[in-house]
Amino acid sequence: MAATAPITQDVLTLPRKLPQGPQNLVGLTRDAMRDALIAAGTPERQAKMRVGQIWQWIYQKGVRDFGLMTNLAKPYRAMLAEHFVIEIPQVVTRQVSEDGTRKYLVRIAGGHEVETVYIPEEGRGTLCISSQVGCTLTCSFCHTGTQKLVRNLTAAEIVGQVMLARDDLGEWPAPGRNPKDEARLLSNIVLMGMGEPLYNFVAVRDAMKIAMDPEGISLSRRRITLSTSGVVPEIARTAEEIGCLLAVSFHATTDEVRNTLVPINRRWNIETLLNALRDYPKASNSERITFEYVMLKGVNDSDEDARRLIKLIEGIPAKINLIPFNEWPGAPYQRSSNNRIRAFADIIYKAGYASPIRTPRGEDIMAACGQLKSETERARKSRREIAAEAGLP
Ligand code: SAH
Ligand code: SF4
Repeated sequence: MAATAPITQDVLTLPRKLPQGPQNLVGLTRDAMRDALIAAGTPERQAKMRVGQIWQWIYQKGVRDFGLMTNLAKPYRAMLAEHFVIEIPQVVTRQVSEDGTRKYLVRIAGGHEVETVYIPEEGRGTLCISSQVGCTLTCSFCHTGTQKLVRNLTAAEIVGQVMLARDDLGEWPAPGRNPKDEARLLSNIVLMGMGEPLYNFVAVRDAMKIAMDPEGISLSRRRITLSTSGVVPEIARTAEEIGCLLAVSFHATTDEVRNTLVPINRRWNIETLLNALRDYPKASNSERITFEYVMLKGVNDSDEDARRLIKLIEGIPAKINLIPFNEWPGAPYQRSSNNRIRAFADIIYKAGYASPIRTPRGEDIMAACGQLKSETERARKSRREIAAEAGLP
């Protein structure tokens, strides 16, 4: 049995606003923007309307220059330019995979870097966004978990990833056209990049509210999926305050194995997690919870595991997403064989659950699930530390 690794959510959080200088309007909730506009001299009775107008310019039209906000009076635009900026994180590099997947290395304040991945699909496209630099959790099969340095992203940096992808895809509507009329290249968001989104709840919530708002990015809440390793106390809150779809990194069918794969299981074990999922208020047949299950050779991929999994999730509207393990340098595991994965999927499917096998995308550019890690972050763990935390010899 491995020594209990510390589980912590202590992270560096940067102030949202620098002590001096203009304030960034990106990422502010409607209320926060209203307050900021009033503080800058906007009459109270106009503030709500101004928020709606400015949101449309920023999130629907992609405008970053107050001078272009033509439905606002010129002196008002000048006032905005004096007090505020519209800033999103900077793309440092962009890699395009053979399969069209795009991986962006994104620089945020303080010189830190995170990764954002765009996955094009037939008639739609999914953006996989990061919520933290690195991750405080140390899942033994995950590359991000080997990165020591962690800080929470701000709401601006989270929704900013959607905006920079739309910049790159050229997906801002032409003037005069309703954005809803456009076929969306970026139609779905998954919070499955770097970090544990529920350890950065407020910023993730505020950013996703903007993503869902009809005057914001205007994606349906059903097109947003938040993946958690199992931060039980925040699960009910996710339903209440965000309302998006939920995915859970389940990955094992006994506490013993889950403790080594997903160490947060030592704090909230399988039973506690399943109870929280049973209570997830939105769970219904049309809105199933996704159980993510990484296929690791000889570790969690037996027929017995598949049968135990079915028993455990009984009564929860669920689909099981099988993820072939994506290797990274120094990883202490191997991917299960295709035959093994198919046999596992078959048992689950026959029990009445959808059991799609996730096709790895962007492997040639290390953009697949669990491969993200900013190479520039110097502080990283050694192979020995990774193996010790996984309880491996
Ligand atoms: N921290 C959150 C979201 C990010 S990880 C979470 O853990 O749920 C997104 C998904 O990729 C999770 O299910 C994670 O367990 C999985 N994953 C991590 N490393 C992987 C790897 N090397 N191969 C395949 N999937 C991996
Ligand atoms: Fe963090 Fe998720 Fe990776 Fe675990 S799988 S280390 S929770 S990013």
